[in-house]
Amino acid sequence: MYEFEGMYVSGKWSPTSGPPIEVRSPADGELLGRVGEATAADVAVAVEAARTALEHGPWQSSTAAIRAQAITALADAIGARTKELADVVSAEVGSPRKWTTFGQLATALGVYRACAAIVEDYEFEERRPSATGGEVLVRRLPVGVVGAIVPWNAPLFTAALKMAPALAAGCTIVLKPSPEAPLALSMLAECIEEAGIPAGVINIVSGGVATGAALVAHPGVDKISFTGSTAAGKQIGAACAQDVRRVTLELGGKSAAVVLDDVVVDATLINGLVTGVMANNGQICAAQTRILLPRSCYDEILEPFAAAVSAMRIGDPAERDTEVGPVINAASRDRIENAVAGAVDAGARLVAGGTRPDGFDSGSYVSPTVLADVDNDMAIARDELFGPVAVVIAYDDENDAVAVANDSEYGLAGAVWSADPVRASRVAARIRTGSVSINSAAPLDFGSPFGGFKKSGIGREGGPEGIAAYLESQSIIL
Ligand code: NAD
Repeated sequence: MYEFEGMYVSGKWSPTSGPPIEVRSPADGELLGRVGEATAADVAVAVEAARTALEHGPWQSSTAAIRAQAITALADAIGARTKELADVVSAEVGSPRKWTTFGQLATALGVYRACAAIVEDYEFEERRPSATGGEVLVRRLPVGVVGAIVPWNAPLFTAALKMAPALAAGCTIVLKPSPEAPLALSMLAECIEEAGIPAGVINIVSGGVATGAALVAHPGVDKISFTGSTAAGKQIGAACAQDVRRVTLELGGKSAAVVLDDVVVDATLINGLVTGVMANNGQICAAQTRILLPRSCYDEILEPFAAAVSAMRIGDPAERDTEVGPVINAASRDRIENAVAGAVDAGARLVAGGTRPDGFDSGSYVSPTVLADVDNDMAIARDELFGPVAVVIAYDDENDAVAVANDSEYGLAGAVWSADPVRASRVAARIRTGSVSINSAAPLDFGSPFGGFKKSGIGREGGPEGIAAYLESQSIIL
């Protein structure tokens, strides 16, 4: 049992006024821990602490080298707790433990370390010739107090994508984890202390929508960085607009894996397609849930793909050989089951999964599922499902593949598979998404920008662009 009955503010735990949030395992409903729920009044205390640390603490005026050191020290402290954090995040999210060390921990560490390397050489000040003669000093200043709101599916990773660049920029932070998965992020408090990050620079308040909304509405917050659903992102964007508050939105996706007709059908391709959609039980924003196959070799690829998905081992996420664990809760399971049934009614052909797995009645399990012969106009191809469900869509030629991949209100990620990397890169460049990988399921690179076109978001995280999102430019005309 993990007990965090309060909020982490100004370098210590203090009581919250809300009732404790019970965190339960999606695998069997077992009580894993409790965290204090922060009310609007508690959020105000945390924002005040972040403001005091910003205006009166050493962080804002610290050198890039000191910030890089602190980010590295935070990564080291997290890395030293890899096993415990991976166990906890696997338990609260339901991520297969076998994948968690890489998928939840190494990815978060990769973000911190890449950011620490970038900030060392980041140009926070630059002199440039004035357009009218003379010189201009362009300064890049911390945006101020950042409200960072993250989802449950990858708590340490999504928080790293906000905390690393916000720290690099010299900002102070109020982090709000999701009520479904606040335990691993609460454990970060210890890492923050161990890293020597000054009190008040990172504050943690747990809670649900009301806690998040209080953070978004607080006038002491200069920037909101939100990762979550497009529905919530729209509300948050609208609320920020009221006060002209800066906002970054990392939202949902319905990404495509485009398999070209020259592809070599081998284990690399099939494993890549499976990982692209099924990793973290299908609960990844950048999941490549639409598999676009050429009509000329449709069955040749569909059959081994469906067979590989059918063979995936469903089980307790803590078991070392589990490949697919439960989805986050029963409501999510029911929503996914209904969507799959709706797709079958609409004419999709079930070629793997589709039924509730036997013997897993106490948890929110969904069998990994493949629906073939899907039309891109069907709801199953348009709506983000956030579960272990792949839809397979046939296309005629390269132009058709690009058109289908782009025919989505989302634009987050994707992949192109081909024996010819030059051709694959050419096709990738026509896809209107924030990132596209070639012959791999990797959704992003830690040192490069990641984010959404269209309704997948506004702004970018990662790389120098991720740091820029936490800076205000000021021109001093000399
Ligand atoms: P969600 O939108 O329900 O909640 C995300 C977070 O926002 C939670 O902490 C929640 O408490 C808070 N929240 C919700 N409504 C709010 C509001 N009106 N005001 C303030 N805070 C609010 O999403 P979720 O179910 O936790 O996560 C799944 C979603 O996250 C999926 O849509 C997925 O695609 C998306 N996601 C996106 C990325 C990305 O980088 N683009 C990464 C991971 C997850």
